[in-house]
Amino acid sequence: MTAVSKIAIAGSGVAGLAAAIGLATAGVDVDVFEAAWEPSARGSGISLQGNALRVFDTLGVWEQVRAAGYAFEGLTLRAPGPDAPVVAELPDVKTGGPDYPAGMGMPRPVLAKILLAAARAAGARVRFDAKVTGADAAAEGVDVQVNDEPAGRYDLLIGADGLHSTVRRLIDIATEPQPTGMGIWRAFVSRPAEVVRSELYYGGPMYIAGYTPTGEDSMYAFLVGKAQDRFSVSDVEAARIMHEESQAYGGPWESVRADLAAGAQVNYTWFTQHIVDAPWNRGRIVVIGDAAHSCPPTIAQGAAQGLEDAAVLTELLIERDAVDPSLWDAFHARRLPRAQAVVDASVQLGQWQIDGDRDADTGGLIFGIAQQMAQPA
Ligand SMILES: Cc1cc2nc3c(=O)[nH]c(=O)nc-3n(C[C@H](O)[C@H](O)[C@H](O)COP(=O)(O)OP(=O)(O)OC[C@H]3O[C@@H](n4cnc5c(N)ncnc54)[C@H](O)[C@@H]3O)c2cc1C
Repeated sequence: MTAVSKIAIAGSGVAGLAAAIGLATAGVDVDVFEAAWEPSARGSGISLQGNALRVFDTLGVWEQVRAAGYAFEGLTLRAPGPDAPVVAELPDVKTGGPDYPAGMGMPRPVLAKILLAAARAAGARVRFDAKVTGADAAAEGVDVQVNDEPAGRYDLLIGADGLHSTVRRLIDIATEPQPTGMGIWRAFVSRPAEVVRSELYYGGPMYIAGYTPTGEDSMYAFLVGKAQDRFSVSDVEAARIMHEESQAYGGPWESVRADLAAGAQVNYTWFTQHIVDAPWNRGRIVVIGDAAHSCPPTIAQGAAQGLEDAAVLTELLIERDAVDPSLWDAFHARRLPRAQAVVDASVQLGQWQIDGDRDADTGGLIFGIAQQMAQPA
């Protein structure tokens, strides 16, 4: 017996597809509605920490993720300058436990493809060009509208529809993501042989510079600076700006700049933060992932938290036989404090960079939050 037999999910990002895989595997009838026309083929890389990899294992996709990504241990800190001197080699906490690498980088479109295929293989129906536009919740079910047409009655609607969630608005949650004052340039580039783990540069003209390997031949590089209105610059102009703003960083950045000059794909976005206070549900409608919380990726835990939301919700829906207040209490008790801790730490790390606080205990904060994440979600 499960608490639901038919559910709708808005959004086919990591959170929505993780919920779809888990629930469909347990025999629940799952419809995923995705507003975009097709799976995104563009996008930069993503860092996935052990606690995210642990969720992939429970979903049965760990071996595919492992084969497609670039696993690494530890974190290298370098300083600006022509030779990019190494300042420290930090051991990582294995947040997924000893069975998984501390971290892994992979191209976002590759991860999306693995999750989409797994959701469909588990029996979930995933429809693109299908925007959830309305939802009327009654005691026994939710009537969902997609593209302004009735799409059916479900036992539950999961709003995994990202930062600017429609579902969050439909259930009158007023919390909205707020800019943190930082913006990030990201480029998908080739990996110099010497880059074998994430490397970060603090100091210099940018708040943070760095890169993470995503495969034998690839990595993503990023520069974090003051948030600026750069959203309408052309692809060519974006590559030129990132090239220019990276000049203070040497070593592997020479190779990054060569790729930028050759036309590497560059993306610009702002960091945001928010967390919805409990409850994240209104009756049989709930938000998870970026719809419920967002944070600057200063500790690369955003997607991991969305995956954990999906895993915990799935577990409760499978183990229990009713969608009742005790299910929601258990869900919030397991998810709120953990997501809040990640948002707080991520925002604090960013704020220390904005304030130029040289005495800040960056290492201590990163280590402390990693130890928390190493506990089961
Ligand atoms: C610059 C940057 C770097 C980051 N780096 C990392 C990192 O290295 N590691 C990490 O763990 N996290 C990182 N994150 C965070 C991570 O990207 C997000 O937390 C994660 O992708 C959110 O997943 P999601 O499934 O909740 O939402 P999304 O991935 O945003 O998916 C939501 C989906 O819902 C769809 N949608 C929207 N509205 C509707 C609707 N009404 N109906 C149907 N579909 C709808 C959207 O088209 C989208 O496909 C980073 C974030 C940023 C901004």
